[in-house]
Amino acid sequence: MADVFADLVGQDEAVATLRHAAASAAALLRAAAVPAARPAGPATGAGPGDSYDKLDALAEEFDAEPIPGAGPPGGPGEAAGGDPGAGMTHAWIFTGPPGSGRSVAARAFAAALQCVHGTGCGECPGCHTTLAGTHADVRLVVPEGLSIGVGEMRALVLRAASTPSGGRWQIVIIEDADRLTEAAGNALLKAVEEPPPRTVFLLCAPSTHPDDISVTIRSRCRVVPLRQPLAGAVAEVLVRRDGIAPDVAEWAAAAAQGHVGRARRLARDPEARQRRDAVLAVPRRLTGVGAAFDAASALIEAAEAEAAAAVAEIDEAERAALQTALGAGGTGRGAAGAMRGAAGQLKDLEKRQKSRATRAQRDALDRALVDLAGFYRDALAVALRAPVAPVHTDTAALAEAGAQKWDAEGALRRLEAVLECRAAIEANVKPRIAVEAMMLALWKG
Ligand SMILES: [Zn+2]
Repeated sequence: MADVFADLVGQDEAVATLRHAAASAAALLRAAAVPAARPAGPATGAGPGDSYDKLDALAEEFDAEPIPGAGPPGGPGEAAGGDPGAGMTHAWIFTGPPGSGRSVAARAFAAALQCVHGTGCGECPGCHTTLAGTHADVRLVVPEGLSIGVGEMRALVLRAASTPSGGRWQIVIIEDADRLTEAAGNALLKAVEEPPPRTVFLLCAPSTHPDDISVTIRSRCRVVPLRQPLAGAVAEVLVRRDGIAPDVAEWAAAAAQGHVGRARRLARDPEARQRRDAVLAVPRRLTGVGAAFDAASALIEAAEAEAAAAVAEIDEAERAALQTALGAGGTGRGAAGAMRGAAGQLKDLEKRQKSRATRAQRDALDRALVDLAGFYRDALAVALRAPVAPVHTDTAALAEAGAQKWDAEGALRRLEAVLECRAAIEANVKPRIAVEAMMLALWKG
């Protein structure tokens, strides 16, 4: 049976690091649970380095915590005899391009930490509940809007400081930590600087660039870099885990450019394939100024429709849940107060949903732009006679025709126009304006 790290495609180094850390963490817990067989001295005199200082602090906390006088690391029950904490620390950052599996890695690591065997067996209740998102000591922050606010972060940090109910770790996973507001980042920094003894923070971000994660937070964390998985590795997991036919898996893995989730969607969801086809039809439709504006409108509207479909179901479920909660008070005491708060709660919910919709639109548009960039990249590769496989095997003939028409420089200019559009949207230029500018550039060359 596959363990919790099985889905971390093509990330052997990261997996080795995390396995080692999980084993160390389990050893720390064992060391803390074993009563002292010898007098407790200073926990360690020999911290091997800065990165272990926090760990020493962690180990000291354990000594002081559940069983007074618990032995120093390396006490009885510690088979290896060394410092059981080496390899484990309380704050981690998973970096890598979108789709490389940052959040998959963070969840798998969380499961391994909560695993009753300490390995991430994939079978025990600790592993199961963590992966299913129902473990009481694992909190997952998925920012729904464009940023994570300070209120949310403060509440989270507060709860994270409590003693783990399952007796192992309190874990906070923050997906898209690059979307923390500055104030939220500061609230998090405080917690990371003075970590509660059993709390582990797992942050996910595209990179450790100061734009993504503050230098001070980064300096307190261990970084686990993930690479863009190779298409072959992605195809392999689609076949093994999702039962997708090998030829479909190979096509989808290449078309998704290393994005595992996207590859799975392309392989399974006919609508996702249709949307991709429509995007890849853009280059041959650009026959004039009018056509360029039409193509821009079509792309924006497709992204809006895709986003609307993606959030509609969850929006409706949330609204229903809130209405039930508000209506359920009946005539009991406090019902009047609850009603007074109802309007505000509905307003809050609408605000959250709107911000989530905006985010979903941007994500959908970005996926389309990545597909389009892949097409021009293929044309450029053909023009340069580069010995590389095409991203989109199904539009290879079109890319070849483009290469003949545009030459390498023309293909490169068009590729740059797509990448500039992505950057402009990222920098908050109105998507429609950025996409129109891009389409005109693609048409004119
Ligand atoms: Zn387990």
